[in-house]
Amino acid sequence: MSLLDVLKWFFEVAGINKRKIVVLIALLIILNVALYYSYPLVRLTLSNPILRKVLAHVLVSVLATTAFGSVLFILSKPMLKVKLGVYWDSMLNPYCTKCKIPLSGSQSGSNVLRCPNCKEDFTLRFGAQLLSLDEAVNKIRNKDI
Ligand SMILES: [Zn+2]
Repeated sequence: MSLLDVLKWFFEVAGINKRKIVVLIALLIILNVALYYSYPLVRLTLSNPILRKVLAHVLVSVLATTAFGSVLFILSKPMLKVKLGVYWDSMLNPYCTKCKIPLSGSQSGSNVLRCPNCKEDFTLRFGAQLLSLDEAVNKIRNKDI
């Protein structure tokens, strides 16, 4: 088991997806740009002892709020809805109905999805019709079900 496998497993169990990582990177870039452009104002503020104290309090509260919000954001699980016998997130990835972790073997064209945790296999059925993952995703996207 490589370090990459361990990281993938951690991200799956923690419910961290690509969208969350992209949002966090975007927030870091915005924060850096804001710091860069506010530097002259910060320098002016630092020359006044009272403003220096106010700035310190503002910085500490912004940092604390950001850290707390980031932890909540990372730990938040995606909202899941039941359709065709499995759970789905907003990006239309299938999840196990018992463990609520992403199902694997979910390459396009695959008919059987497997939970990497409880080893249960799932098939996507619409009535008597057996659906591939792509067909199921299209049905949900087109609101056919
Ligand atoms: Zn499971």
